[in-house]
Amino acid sequence: MTTGPMHQNKKWLESQYAKTKNIYTMADIAGCHPRTIHKWMAKHNIKMNGMKGRKHTEETKEKISKGVLATNPTGMAGRKHSPETRKNMSLNRKGSMNKNWKGGITAGIRKLRKTKEYVRWRKEVINNAGGTCENCGSDKNIEAHHIISLHKDISKALDINNGMALCIACHKKRHRRERDV
Ligand SMILES: [Zn+2]
Ligand SMILES: [Zn+2]
Repeated sequence: MTTGPMHQNKKWLESQYAKTKNIYTMADIAGCHPRTIHKWMAKHNIKMNGMKGRKHTEETKEKISKGVLATNPTGMAGRKHSPETRKNMSLNRKGSMNKNWKGGITAGIRKLRKTKEYVRWRKEVINNAGGTCENCGSDKNIEAHHIISLHKDISKALDINNGMALCIACHKKRHRRERDV
């Protein structure tokens, strides 16, 4: 009989591999990490069929192709992300979703500007300001401006309190300053 854990035993490895064709299953049986199995398989020169066992899930294949099996450079596998990391990850996701959302909403905004409700909002905002620019007092070329941009909060699109009257010049200036509005 040999001493030491079974996964270090060549005979055990050979027979288990013949049975399971899967070092993950073997790792489960031996109660060790798949890469430990892999290491000992390699040590004993046991052929692993290029790890193409039918039992491999897509995830396993990916792990193998990325070499996670042999090395674990990040040490992340099986470890939970810290709350901080998770928060950052979710922020990143939100950020990229936001970009998509903005891309998709532009067409929606264009449509919105043509609706009766929008035209009414515009008129009301300008009327409330007495038809003059709330910045310079001009009464020429008055437009309705969204204080909170449609891109930032579409739900405030028709909110009278979110509108202000600006002449075309002041309006342009404001948008240049706010850049993304
Ligand atoms: Zn505006
Ligand atoms: Zn003005």
